[in-house]
Amino acid sequence: MVVSLPLVFNAPRRGMPPRHLADLDSAERREVVKELGLPGFRADQLARQYYGRLEADAEKMTDLPAAVRDQVGSELFPVLLTPVKHLACDGGETRKTLWKANDGTLLESVLMRYPDRATLCISSQAGCGMACPFCATGQAGLQRNLSTAEIVDQVRAAAAALRDGEVAGGPGRLSNVVFMGMGEPLANYKRVVAAVRRITSPAPDGLGLSQRSVTVSTVGLAPAIRKLADEDLSVTLAVSLHTPDDELRDTLVPVNNRWSVAEVLKAARYYADKTGRRVSIEYAMIRDVNDQPWRADLLGKKLRKALGALVHVNLIPLNPTPGSEWDASPKPVEKEFVRRVLAQGVSCTVRDTRGQEIAAACGQLAAEN
Ligand code: SAH
Repeated sequence: MVVSLPLVFNAPRRGMPPRHLADLDSAERREVVKELGLPGFRADQLARQYYGRLEADAEKMTDLPAAVRDQVGSELFPVLLTPVKHLACDGGETRKTLWKANDGTLLESVLMRYPDRATLCISSQAGCGMACPFCATGQAGLQRNLSTAEIVDQVRAAAAALRDGEVAGGPGRLSNVVFMGMGEPLANYKRVVAAVRRITSPAPDGLGLSQRSVTVSTVGLAPAIRKLADEDLSVTLAVSLHTPDDELRDTLVPVNNRWSVAEVLKAARYYADKTGRRVSIEYAMIRDVNDQPWRADLLGKKLRKALGALVHVNLIPLNPTPGSEWDASPKPVEKEFVRRVLAQGVSCTVRDTRGQEIAAACGQLAAEN
């Protein structure tokens, strides 16, 4: 891919932040280093600082001559994200960070520590244009796409915070990344795919997480799901289905008016076949809206038919959002729903939801300061 890269002066790009090292793949990185008049070996040296040592401040890259640090700082390491605040709960093991981008745009990421893993939930857009009525992010609309580097830097920052023991539970390692924060990742396709490559490439080209521990969640943009299947990545795909019938889904996930349940499931099947990966189905349990026994039966039947064994249903108890009259389903209803999905031969569990008290749970990210 050829991108036009501003020379010498790293000018702000229209509606986007200035160029950053993490926007570039390895060939582009070498090209820019050459354009800056630096010796070729600096390209990988800079990448090792950023991806390997998780260092984003050129002033602290002491293996660079002092004279070069300034230039490298403004050309390749502009400050993209500044933490505005951290909010924690679960004894500090869930931590939400509100970030301010270079142009003042606000976005959030959430780090969740478990006994066996640490998962970061990241944003791919500031706001979201998908307008799902039960999701707080959808209520405010889309502000803008995040750049590749803005997406990657959320991950670098969390990995550094864990390594440096800034998160309760002692020093640790980031193991999983989920694109389940603000935004619709497949509506920012190119930057998200580039970010996935940077997150999963081994050093010096990326942060070296395994592809299998990265999950991309989508409202169901069918053509983009197919395109993702053809990228030769083995990331987990999650589809926010929320109901098996078009009539209700047209209102819960408005993009269903464009790509129906059947089309979304067909695309999901293509993804599963192409990657060999089981697809996750997200289903927020909304009391008296989508939690009826017949819907559980229909969900199980449709998934069994479309995806066979290559599917897993995650039920998410609805998290409250400002101004919404909807509630989570009562536990007995939830239990019966699980039972019925399982009875159709489809695996199904209820997701342990975290971060409600700090508005960090699914559907609650509104980047309010
Ligand atoms: N736009 C993508 C990525 C966001 S993931 C997508 O929709 O998949 C966020 C997940 O939380 C989605 O499955 C979304 O449907 C779900 N969600 C949104 N609002 C919620 C709420 N109030 N309670 C529980 N889950 C919610």
